[in-house]
Amino acid sequence: MPEPTTEKPLPPGMVLGPDGKPCKVCTSFRHWKPALATREQARSKTVATGAATTVAASPTSAFLQNKRANCPPDSEELGRATWTFLHTTAAYYPERPTPTQRANMLTLLRSLPLLYPCSHCAEDFGEDIKVNPPNVSGRAELSRWLCERHNEVNQKLGKETFNCAKTDERWKDGPADGSCD
Ligand SMILES: Cc1cc2nc3c(=O)[nH]c(=O)nc-3n(C[C@H](O)[C@H](O)[C@H](O)COP(=O)(O)OP(=O)(O)OC[C@H]3O[C@@H](n4cnc5c(N)ncnc54)[C@H](O)[C@@H]3O)c2cc1C
Repeated sequence: MPEPTTEKPLPPGMVLGPDGKPCKVCTSFRHWKPALATREQARSKTVATGAATTVAASPTSAFLQNKRANCPPDSEELGRATWTFLHTTAAYYPERPTPTQRANMLTLLRSLPLLYPCSHCAEDFGEDIKVNPPNVSGRAELSRWLCERHNEVNQKLGKETFNCAKTDERWKDGPADGSCD
């Protein structure tokens, strides 16, 4: 007779990390939150006696957004924060960096495949930068290189590519209409 298992079933869509355990930061929350939505809707229906319209049927309901407010990041939240950091750092990198500044930037970029906690993201990024080594020769060059790396990920995920002529507008100056001033 097999021992009864006490392990909780994995939420649908949850990705396992290299240690074989559920890895939140390797998974997109969108892919496992419907389980939460279903639970919340079922709960609200039993309590609200037919007035369940207070809870939106969409998985983007206020419940889910609030629920996520102070949770550990998923792969999307971490990705947005990391790209923000990297593109902004590139946007403020010197036009003519010193050898030390170049070395520091190289160390930062080469550390990502080793340290980035979304393991499959880190692995693919590591492969990409082997083929396309970082260009840390100046601000414009680094911004373009990074934009192209981000576009590789966008394409892999089926997203639109970004126009790399607009990195300064997006990450440094804001649009000409002054809407970010
Ligand atoms: C190194 C790295 C590797 C990743 N690998 C994966 C992966 O393998 N699988 C996975 O599911 N997720 C991966 N991610 C996360 C993924 O790239 C996104 O961050 C995440 O899906 C959230 O996407 P988003 O649509 O909100 O915007 P993001 O892609 O995070 O972009 C944020 C903002 O950057 C701007 N932007 C978009 N493209 C560019 C560009 N090319 N240049 C400059 N600015 C741009 C846009 O204004 C956008 O709103 C990775 C993240 C990083 C940092």
